[in-house]
Amino acid sequence: MTTTNGTAPVTAPATTTVTVPEHPLLHIGGARVPARSGRSMPVEDPSTATTIGVVARGDGTDVDLAVAAARDAARHARSVTPAERGRALRALAAELDAAREELARLETLDTGKPLSLARSEIAGCVAYLDYYAGAADKVHGETIPVGPGSLAYTVRGPVGVTAHIVPWNAPLSMLCRSVAPALATGNTAVVKPAEQTPLTALRFAELVEAAGYPPGTCNVVTGLGREAGHALAAHPGIGSLTFTGSVVTGRAVLRAAAEHITPVVTELGGKSPQIVFADADLDDVAAQVVTGFTANSGQYCDAGSRLLVDRAVQGELVDWIVARTAALSIGPGIDDPDLGPLVSAEHHARVAGYVEIGRREGARVADGPRGALPDRGHFLAPTTFVDVTPDMRIAREEIFGPVLTVLGFDDEDEAVALADATDYGLGVGIHTRDIDRALRVAGRVDAGYVMINEYFGGGTAVPFGGTKLSGTGRERGLVALESYVALKTVVARVGARPAGGGDR
Ligand code: NAD
Repeated sequence: MTTTNGTAPVTAPATTTVTVPEHPLLHIGGARVPARSGRSMPVEDPSTATTIGVVARGDGTDVDLAVAAARDAARHARSVTPAERGRALRALAAELDAAREELARLETLDTGKPLSLARSEIAGCVAYLDYYAGAADKVHGETIPVGPGSLAYTVRGPVGVTAHIVPWNAPLSMLCRSVAPALATGNTAVVKPAEQTPLTALRFAELVEAAGYPPGTCNVVTGLGREAGHALAAHPGIGSLTFTGSVVTGRAVLRAAAEHITPVVTELGGKSPQIVFADADLDDVAAQVVTGFTANSGQYCDAGSRLLVDRAVQGELVDWIVARTAALSIGPGIDDPDLGPLVSAEHHARVAGYVEIGRREGARVADGPRGALPDRGHFLAPTTFVDVTPDMRIAREEIFGPVLTVLGFDDEDEAVALADATDYGLGVGIHTRDIDRALRVAGRVDAGYVMINEYFGGGTAVPFGGTKLSGTGRERGLVALESYVALKTVVARVGARPAGGGDR
């Protein structure tokens, strides 16, 4: 691929040109403006480990301006009818759809992810916008029967300015997942993308205005988490905050938001198991397990990074997995391999450190030797660990890279106990031909999202989120709309007061 050091436009192969910002600018109130401090930060292509551009390093001052712009736009948003909100979101979906190849290539450049994967994530962004466009005029209150002489009803209104702190692993997808329901319910947004991957968020803000939204509807403050991110979480002008990221940062965000009692949705990490019973179709399961722990180089919160398998078929399944893993191609995202690089040198060191920890803990790598990886970029070969015990760190902690830990079980009780033996509760995969068993285990495990015989199954319409350290609240589906509305109750006396008074 053609990349340049510095700030010039970057031309991707084929027909679509993607442009990396030439000047470090934020997107506030419909305008591209520099950070007030004048500071900037580099953007790297993780496939080549080269700097490809520069963005503004916004901080608290810029966040203040962005929230003020969003507050002004929120006043206008309140006057828009629900049906018009739906039409506006549909227009935005069309803008994204028209720009989907450009956005996919920009995402690949910024994250290193394989181009096909980026394309499917951008298609998912369009799907979020379409789905919540359809929901915009179906968010309403209820009337509650409290007896003669009284009227009680609820109204679901916008919260005003919503804040979105986004991670680097699926940048535009995570942004659209929360911004779409926020706009559908009549709010405006301030987005803080991850410092590693700010590019598609800036382009998204332009597309929002191209779709006809007023300036200030979607503002983007690029910058560091401890500066711009913290300032946004601590801001008094925010009606709701959606944070997607790590547990450590999630705690910091909750503490900052506590000052103003800002409601927070937290979508945090995972250590999701795939439970395989002996009657499962092992060839099919092997394919799903490999996708589950290597897709996006293992950098998905719901990566199926723990294989829990009936000991009767453990050896056979591991052989299938190792063979499939060995056949995966690894390379720069733009060449569309099976696996791209990890997002940064820092993250590469972290994941490689876990592989070393696994060896030191006494686990054994089941994979054979593999050819050389590309010499530039943050590449790491997938690793499958066997001889793992439940107390090992590699069995309990989120690694967020292409690393699988395999644990055997003898019966269903042991499988459920192992599934629950981490501090996380995000995804669980269950593989069996016995539907009674599948549904029973689905009911027993402590997790927010269970997938039977189809890992990564589901989609826009089904609620997603975790239990335990995996977070609070739910995204996707109609239930996510609740995070962006303020429920108001109105009670009125109508007509003469009935004898004996009310229930109180
Ligand atoms: P991270 O926590 O390092 O960063 C996430 C965001 O928080 C970034 O925008 C960052 O700049 C910002 N941030 C950092 N410090 C901050 C602070 N003190 N105050 C406010 N904001 C701050 O996470 P990451 O490394 O970008 O993403 C990987 C993590 O995200 C993994 O743990 C993964 O499981 C999780 N994740 C969860 C989901 C989900 O839906 N549950 C989805 C994607 C990723």
